[in-house]
Amino acid sequence: MSWHALDKEIARWRDSGRTAELWWRDDDAADATVALDRLLDLHRKTGMPLALAVVPALATQALAARLAEEPGVDLLQHGYAHVNHAPPLDKKCELGAHRPAMMVLGELGTGWLALERLFGGRALPVLVPPWNRIAPALVPTLPEIGFAGLSTFGPRPRAEPVKGLRQVNVHLDLVDWQGHRGFVGEAAALTALVMALDTARHSSNEPVGVLSHHLVMDEAAWDFLRSLLERARTMSGVEVRAGSRLFKSREARP
Ligand SMILES: [Zn+2]
Repeated sequence: MSWHALDKEIARWRDSGRTAELWWRDDDAADATVALDRLLDLHRKTGMPLALAVVPALATQALAARLAEEPGVDLLQHGYAHVNHAPPLDKKCELGAHRPAMMVLGELGTGWLALERLFGGRALPVLVPPWNRIAPALVPTLPEIGFAGLSTFGPRPRAEPVKGLRQVNVHLDLVDWQGHRGFVGEAAALTALVMALDTARHSSNEPVGVLSHHLVMDEAAWDFLRSLLERARTMSGVEVRAGSRLFKSREARP
């Protein structure tokens, strides 16, 4: 799979009079770091909308001060403390069924208050579960505690898994977590992207999300991300959408 395959896929959207929708999510923001500066610099230079998932319990005043300079960045809630509560051999999960639901939901509420305190109501009521995992039994409760959006990984089952909750997922993870934790590679990244776009065009019609992790990305991942955003900016037939536009935001939270 090559950049040419992506160009061809976008051409198919264009030929059918449609616009392919991409969006960009970056996870694990907690502090003002050199890596965050690099991320924000890429956002500014390309002009592409960025949705940044912030870990409430770890978020610092320095992060709030830094992001105050970037009013165009959409902020999402990345769980509560990014702590794994699954048993050692299970997949990592903070929002699983390993603890009472009331405890997990209580943490999410505390996390939202922390984001409000730091960002003055600027964060969108959108939950990005750490490791992209959440117990299915918790999802119907999310609108009740104020969330209007949910973002995990892979094809979404429905655009609205429960009434009042819009799901917009990511489909391409630039980091190879199972292997060397470096870039997944250009061929693998483009394959995931083109396949997700193809599925969106034929059936799902969902926006296709690109997931970056500013704290761990190697040079190859940064290079690919820059190339992709530049391409999306200059090609016709594709748009990078803002999180604030993809997730229906609500007037106020209870
Ligand atoms: Zn994370």
